[in-house]
Amino acid sequence: MKIVLLGPPGAGKGTQAEMLVKKLFLPHISTGDMFRAAIAAGTDLAMEAKSYMDKGQLVPDALTIGIIRDRIAQPDCREGFLLDGFPRTLAQAEALDQMLADMDTELDAVLNISVPLDNLVTRLTGRRMCRQCGNIYHMTYNPPKDENTCDSCNGELYQRSDDKEETVKNRLTVYENQTAPLIEYYTNTGKLKTVDGDQAIGKVLVDLGAALGQNWA
Ligand code: ADP
Ligand code: ADP
Ligand code: ZN
Repeated sequence: MKIVLLGPPGAGKGTQAEMLVKKLFLPHISTGDMFRAAIAAGTDLAMEAKSYMDKGQLVPDALTIGIIRDRIAQPDCREGFLLDGFPRTLAQAEALDQMLADMDTELDAVLNISVPLDNLVTRLTGRRMCRQCGNIYHMTYNPPKDENTCDSCNGELYQRSDDKEETVKNRLTVYENQTAPLIEYYTNTGKLKTVDGDQAIGKVLVDLGAALGQNWA
């Protein structure tokens, strides 16, 4: 299956993606994770990406599309993949459709996780990530047993620099202007399925499964 997870920053894409890929045996492709890994490795390309990420802006399409083009050409993507955080602009969505058409295939579903704007700031400012395994926590909604330590690998938890309140507000505006139009784009292709993301994490997963024809209840 070839799936896109759509939704504003903080909707729960990363949280759900971790669980979905285990159930569906798909590679998890997150452009945000790929950029953060590249930054940690200190490549030149990543340094360019970082300047945009720190301001809460999108990394330019050419760079982002190139990274996805290389990734989905890998052998582990032949049977499918879960894209998390890509596409985020109309140009990216059109490029993805073209890449897949060139491979004689297409997306199976676009899962849109919908969460009221008012909840997103709290979700993002309370988010903590594991430096070692990338697990996602929330200090109130999904707290780790120890506030500094990952439950699953004992790695150190940190707050992303772009999860500060000023940057978060910018990212939500960028979402409204540049990414929200994809809802209409994918509605028109008949692939969009919207799930209520303002529910317990486990319930959102059940609803996402149902949207894919799976019974995980
Ligand atoms: P995204 O990848 O869409 O930006 P995340 O999966 O990183 O979103 O989730 C953002 C924050 O919200 C994290 O701190 C996460 O623990 C928390 N979160 C995710 N899903 C839910 C939910 N259903 N209810 C409450 N908090 C959630
Ligand atoms: P979130 O889901 O919390 O917004 P991500 O980890 O998906 O965070 O993305 C972090 C940052 O990485 C974005 O704010 C943006 O700067 C950059 N980024 C990630 N995906 C894309 C994309 N598809 N196009 C452009 N920039 C991206
Ligand atoms: Zn961890």
